[in-house]
Amino acid sequence: MSVQATLGDLRRTFARGTTKPLAWRVRQLRALRRMLVERGPELENALAADLAKNPTEAQLAELALAVGEIDHTLRHLRRWLRPTRVAVPLSLAPATAKVIREPLGVVLVIGPWNYPIQLVLVPLAGALAAGNAVIVKPSELAPASSALLAELIPQYLDPSAVRVVEGGVDETTALLRERFDHIFYTGNGQVGRIVARAAAEHLTPVTLELGGKSPVFVDDDADLTAAARRIVYAKLVNAGQTCVAPDYLLTTEKTAAALLPHLGSAITEFYGSQPQESADFGRIINDRHFDRLSALIHNRKPALGGQVDATTRYIAPTVIDGVAADDPLMTEEIFGPILPIVHVSGVSDAIDFITERDKPLALYVFSGRKSVERRFLRETSSGAVGLNIPAAHLLVPRLPFGGVGPSGTGRYHGKYTIDTFSHSKAVLSKPTRPDTLRLIYPPFTELRDRI
Ligand code: NAD
Repeated sequence: MSVQATLGDLRRTFARGTTKPLAWRVRQLRALRRMLVERGPELENALAADLAKNPTEAQLAELALAVGEIDHTLRHLRRWLRPTRVAVPLSLAPATAKVIREPLGVVLVIGPWNYPIQLVLVPLAGALAAGNAVIVKPSELAPASSALLAELIPQYLDPSAVRVVEGGVDETTALLRERFDHIFYTGNGQVGRIVARAAAEHLTPVTLELGGKSPVFVDDDADLTAAARRIVYAKLVNAGQTCVAPDYLLTTEKTAAALLPHLGSAITEFYGSQPQESADFGRIINDRHFDRLSALIHNRKPALGGQVDATTRYIAPTVIDGVAADDPLMTEEIFGPILPIVHVSGVSDAIDFITERDKPLALYVFSGRKSVERRFLRETSSGAVGLNIPAAHLLVPRLPFGGVGPSGTGRYHGKYTIDTFSHSKAVLSKPTRPDTLRLIYPPFTELRDRI
């Protein structure tokens, strides 16, 4: 079926009002939840095929996370959708004013490959909860997950309102030529620009969930054992292919030396002395990304790791100490299990280093001092901040998730998702009698005398 025909179907469904009743929305959310539970084993298999994702990790970081978002939405949706009464200025009284939420229409959700189920289904659930019809375009770089979503979604969700379009650049380009009422894109900033340009043609609003280099600062007085464990966990989940993973570490030379053994112990504790044999450590998505990552550590002397295996696309958990600010490791988002450590002279130097670069998606600080945390909060800008905890902010449905500037536009999760996929319509109502507006009608010469 052509893109135009698919879009035409969804437009007709939306125009008929099918997607608007709360009961329809709740049915879709419950069905999506059922799909995640009933088809859990198949979804886990697809994630294992695409990313060698361990089934427990698949549950924690994808399926259960999506179920959690759906449950939170089901619990609060009725309240979120209620019109909000607002006060009216005295000059307009008597009158009432309220904000009502209306769905936008037909929404396009474009997903990435790194969390290929969750990052498609959470925006999809939100778009449906807000009463929209949706086309989802999963990433072609996670082909097993994409194919499975294309097979399952029509079995569970209303096919007159939800369609899956599979494919890569050509198919996405064709979709982007059409007019949508909102485009929700997750992926890298280069394609983010393509999406934003295409959307501008139709004045379509966009949400861009992008990435970038998220720093972690470790202060001299930080609890190094805990910091190492948490950093290693967040960095190595999904073999480092996580948008909110700490991309690089900033610390003093002295603390770097003290931290390294803790990082080594944490890696061994989680993945054993041979991470290649661990069922808990993932693989790189494809040869292109494997080659890119191998090149970044080729001919280096890593403090930890450094081994690679092209046949299984394995890159060992790798730490490289004393990396220069202009090193190739510091030019682009790493998106793999490689952690560069850049030496700074202290807190001020770390803050300068961060503020001289693109605003990151997330920023993490390990420090024993509240004053240092406050400085980072006040003096830097990022999508989110994790104080002594990297990456986990996305598990809090009441926190907005999204970037700022080059790391993204817009936000979602929980109620923020409903805000993203709805229009807040202003409604003002005033009785015709008494006609208090007479006071401001022309002729203005008389009005001037009155005020
Ligand atoms: P990707 O290559 O799968 O691309 C994302 C989507 O864009 C895919 O659906 C793909 O088909 C489409 N696409 C690719 N090239 C295109 C083109 N030329 N024209 C139109 N569409 C095109 O995924 P990726 O971009 O490699 O994903 C990794 C990036 O995403 C990282 O930068 C990561 O930080 C970021 N990311 C951000 C979040 C977030 O929530 N903020 C989450 C995950 C990943």
